[in-house]
Amino acid sequence: MLFHSTRGIDKNKTFEEVLLQGLAGDGGLFMPEFWPQINLKEMTNLDSFIDVAKHIVPLFTKSSFDDDEVMKMLDETWHDFEDKNLLRIHNINNSIDILELFHGPTAAFKDFGLQLAAAFFNKSLKRQDKTAIVFGATSGDTGSAAIDACKKFDAIKSFILIPDGNMSDIQRKQMTTVDQSNVFAILVNGTFDDCQDIVKEGFKTRSFLKKDQYLLAVNSINWVRIIGQICYYFYAALSINKLSEPLNFSIPTGNFGNVFACYSAYKMGMPLEKIVVAVNKNDILQRFFNNNDYSKIKVFETISPSMDISVASNFERLIYDFFLERDENQCSKMYSDFPSKPIQMDESIWKKSQDLFYSYSVNDESTLNCINKFSDQYNYLMDPHTAVAAEAILNNSNDLKNKTVILSTAHPAKFPNVFEKINKEISDIPNSIRNVLHKKEIANKLNASKKEIFNFIEQNN
Ligand SMILES: *Cc1c(COP(=O)(O)O)cnc(C)c1O
Repeated sequence: MLFHSTRGIDKNKTFEEVLLQGLAGDGGLFMPEFWPQINLKEMTNLDSFIDVAKHIVPLFTKSSFDDDEVMKMLDETWHDFEDKNLLRIHNINNSIDILELFHGPTAAFKDFGLQLAAAFFNKSLKRQDKTAIVFGATSGDTGSAAIDACKKFDAIKSFILIPDGNMSDIQRKQMTTVDQSNVFAILVNGTFDDCQDIVKEGFKTRSFLKKDQYLLAVNSINWVRIIGQICYYFYAALSINKLSEPLNFSIPTGNFGNVFACYSAYKMGMPLEKIVVAVNKNDILQRFFNNNDYSKIKVFETISPSMDISVASNFERLIYDFFLERDENQCSKMYSDFPSKPIQMDESIWKKSQDLFYSYSVNDESTLNCINKFSDQYNYLMDPHTAVAAEAILNNSNDLKNKTVILSTAHPAKFPNVFEKINKEISDIPNSIRNVLHKKEIANKLNASKKEIFNFIEQNN
């Protein structure tokens, strides 16, 4: 199994190359050259998440690692979860289950993808006898999950830029309270866009790297993160009905990584009825699925900050695989003109998305109403991201024939301000969050200046 870029120039890469490179050299995203197929009958005999992962992960890694080696690694990949089986499925009623993906160390679903990425980073670095810098910007949960996943590996130093902005205190503290010599949380007086520009420039110049050192990206376009997420879709379908009936999945999304993982599971054979693409006021995906209009506008701040984006970076994978049926030239053309020219599909091609996808945009007021509704009716407190996905199905329950699984991507305790606003008490604060509340913050405060930040990294490298 090799990997090709969605834009057709960067081709025939091994898993390890894709892992360490992140973005393809031509600006596109890496895709597996074909969709490996799961034998559903065999899978019905499995019962833990790790067993499911052992069935799926090796399908993508053969070009670089022996299966035995990967299986052994997977026994230790996911760590510090509150639950032995990593995730829980909470039944609401006959038509709704909630897939709780927030029982990991940073209380958001990103632990699944990033712990897998970190384990493979470490494995590759060790066998090449090299070190790496992880460099990224975060507007919410990516930074904390990346720091937590990488901190136990000596070969990796993490430098994460944290903008002044719409992030909860707990999200920030999860990064700034990690007291370890290979972790640098950098508070930047600038916006998320400023931080992203600096990260992009860093990946171009690489001026702060030592000789033979890797620069690693942890943003959601890294294929290994998607693999980690494919595993929990299969696991959910297995637990709920032994993969016997197609389910709907309602997914709160920003960069489309989690949705693309669901689509990938479907392409690998998981029974699926519909994917509900649930977004907040940042509605570029909803505008595309409903009006064939994928145009970039400014970012709005919402109470579901981890979904505040102007473009959905992983969406290019769906354009390439689903809409353009892997026509790399057309994909490359569309993206070379974007965002100055919005992406619009031929009407007949665009229409086929309606069989598989349904998209809905939820504003802050409806998000709060939905939290209240589930709390009052079902005695279930959900975080604002999860509520976006829940509200999206309440508005479309007629079209969804089978059972729907709502993905719960974060623990409500990460967003205490939201629950203060509606006078709801959060009773079960996870230990991981309780622990950071009173820890001292370690402040590396820098200006939004490339020079200053690159110097800082070089000095601490
Ligand atoms: C990152 C994040 C999302 C969005 O995930 P994508 O893969 O970018 O769609 C949703 N909810 C939470 C809590 C997140 O941290």
